[in-house]
Amino acid sequence: MTATAEQTGPDPATAFTELYGGEPHGVWAAPGRVNLIGEYTDFNDGFVLPLALPHTARAAVSPRTDGVLRLHSSDVPGGTVSLRVDALAPRSGHGWAAYPAGVVWALREAGHPVTGADIALTSTVPTGAGLSSSAALETVTALALNDLFQLGLTGPELAVIGRRAENAFVGVPCGIMDQMASACCTEGHALHLDTRDLTLRQVPFDLAAQGLTLLAVDTRVKHALGDGAYAERRAGCEEGARLLGIPTLRDLPYEDLGAALTTLADAGADESVIRYVRHVVGDNRRVEQVIALLDAGDARGAGPVLDEGHRSLRDDLRVSCPELDLAVAAARGAGALGARMTGGGFGGSAVVLAEAAGADAVAEAVTKAFAGAGHAAPGIFTAVPSAGARRLR
Ligand code: ADP
Ligand code: MG
Repeated sequence: MTATAEQTGPDPATAFTELYGGEPHGVWAAPGRVNLIGEYTDFNDGFVLPLALPHTARAAVSPRTDGVLRLHSSDVPGGTVSLRVDALAPRSGHGWAAYPAGVVWALREAGHPVTGADIALTSTVPTGAGLSSSAALETVTALALNDLFQLGLTGPELAVIGRRAENAFVGVPCGIMDQMASACCTEGHALHLDTRDLTLRQVPFDLAAQGLTLLAVDTRVKHALGDGAYAERRAGCEEGARLLGIPTLRDLPYEDLGAALTTLADAGADESVIRYVRHVVGDNRRVEQVIALLDAGDARGAGPVLDEGHRSLRDDLRVSCPELDLAVAAARGAGALGARMTGGGFGGSAVVLAEAAGADAVAEAVTKAFAGAGHAAPGIFTAVPSAGARRLR
């Protein structure tokens, strides 16, 4: 296991000077995240409970006044991308650079005078692992520009900009969780976010004090069916709400779930819609259950709720995959307190709650199970609840 309390990576200021000359005006960081519980709830106006990772995207940035936007990532080949801010257009390509360029576009669309920038990026957030490397990139860009152009935007407002960049400019129909987590999480806490109105609460999540460790297991697989399946789940949830005559599934209290499922069956709803509704309403409740446990100082008690969440994602929403199921089963078999896939599924990562004293054995068991099944070795690290986006210097 690569247990990493902090993940710094190379200094983007060094790359900045080599690429653009001179010193950057500043350096910013924004983290990736794992979601503890509350999956596929954010596009249903529901609850989520993510925490920031020690892994961050970092940006060394200087403003420009001539309309030029230069973007470079030390993590991808291909050199510097040079664009004009007044020519940025949604869904016009640009590969990875669409994420930071989309942020500039979204800020300008919202009326903020961003007149160009030189940006050097580097990230330690694993890419495409369901740990929100894309939101980290968006959030670090948004925060840097917010400071440099003195836009005065709050964390939630920056998250909205990042989401708009990803939805409208890049063209990925994600919810608001990832950007909110990257922008607003704080060290030692999980973020209870109500995605309906973006109200939030920092929930103390001091794992070490309770003798616990949270592991993230990157399965290193990403199954291609993910994108279409996400849209299908989303449409199914909207259909469920429509048939129930409510604005969103958030508006269905858990106590009314049984009756609602009968109503859906009577209305001739597709059986998949019934499963999706059961998952979303159940996961909203599981968020509240885990928060109550954390508030009571009983993080250990969250284990079975994580297990239940995984079963729901696997059997009702059907967004898991063999590698995620294996990670969860192997972790539980080695004594973990609870485990579930996290993020969009079809690959990506699982989150595992374990006794601190048993965490290495759990990690070893998962690695061994992957080898036994002929899968590539998973990436396993401790998910220490870390700080959200901030200026470093
Ligand atoms: P996730 O957010 O779960 O990691 P996504 O598919 O949403 O997965 O985002 C991954 C994409 O974000 C990458 O394909 C790339 O375009 C972009 N990206 C993430 N990190 C970097 C980086 N360090 N440098 C360049 N592009 C990055
Ligand atoms: Mg992403």
